[in-house]
Amino acid sequence: MSALALPLVRALIDLDTPARLSEDLLARCAADPASRAIAVNRRGELALAAPTSIIAPLAGRTPLAYLGRHADAPLVLLDATEGNDVRNLREIGLDLPGDQAALAAVAVALRQWQADAHCVACGHESELIHSGWVFRCPACGAERYPRTDPCIIVAVTDDADRLLLARAAHFAYPRASVLAGYVEPGESLEAAVVREVFEEAGVHVHDVTYRGSQPWPFPHSLMCAFTARTSGMPTPVIDGEEIVEAAFYTRDEVRTRIAEGTLQLPSGISVASALVTDWLEESA
Ligand SMILES: [Zn+2]
Repeated sequence: MSALALPLVRALIDLDTPARLSEDLLARCAADPASRAIAVNRRGELALAAPTSIIAPLAGRTPLAYLGRHADAPLVLLDATEGNDVRNLREIGLDLPGDQAALAAVAVALRQWQADAHCVACGHESELIHSGWVFRCPACGAERYPRTDPCIIVAVTDDADRLLLARAAHFAYPRASVLAGYVEPGESLEAAVVREVFEEAGVHVHDVTYRGSQPWPFPHSLMCAFTARTSGMPTPVIDGEEIVEAAFYTRDEVRTRIAEGTLQLPSGISVASALVTDWLEESA
């Protein structure tokens, strides 16, 4: 089984986390002429520095968070301003170099988390500490850390090696994808796969196999990719509310339907795209 080609985790990045605890780190970054920045607005949109780059000189501006060291210089998060040419990570993720795509996911997730400074305990405006990675409330002392919601996404195949594709109610026809859903409290990733597939398609799965993970900072999910098998050639049972269409397809059927315009597969930086592409190319 080959590794999934996940666009936002093409490169491993080092966020230099121990350095965050230094109280004057952001001030030192601001004073360092070598410092560089990724600018993101509160909606999570990235400022372009060049057509395929989001890293620009910090130029003395005030950083929001420390993102580690990149190309031997400090890298920080910055607030994008009105004049910036901003793009969604979904649009530009594939065009960025691998390390920048991975850093962009961190910057987009962190900036959106920082956008709400209210203390969850008392409602007071909190202050950022740990170089932008923790909120502390000056009124009650409560601390708040960035959160990440785990989601599972799964390519289910039957005994004929057909792939289960479903159209969610919010998908425009003819778009379809593999099944996905949030992990519930107290649930393992594997149990979430089994539950989601049965809930959404009425299909029992086994051989749940982990294939990789990718951050999905829209605004704070972590997509955990799996493959799973079902026995026989079952007919999916859908609720008609959340999922409006679901069926198993052979590779030939998928290609024919795409050519006819009766099926549109996920694309871009999504894990769904990586899973479907992986299945399509498996026996190509
Ligand atoms: Zn508080």
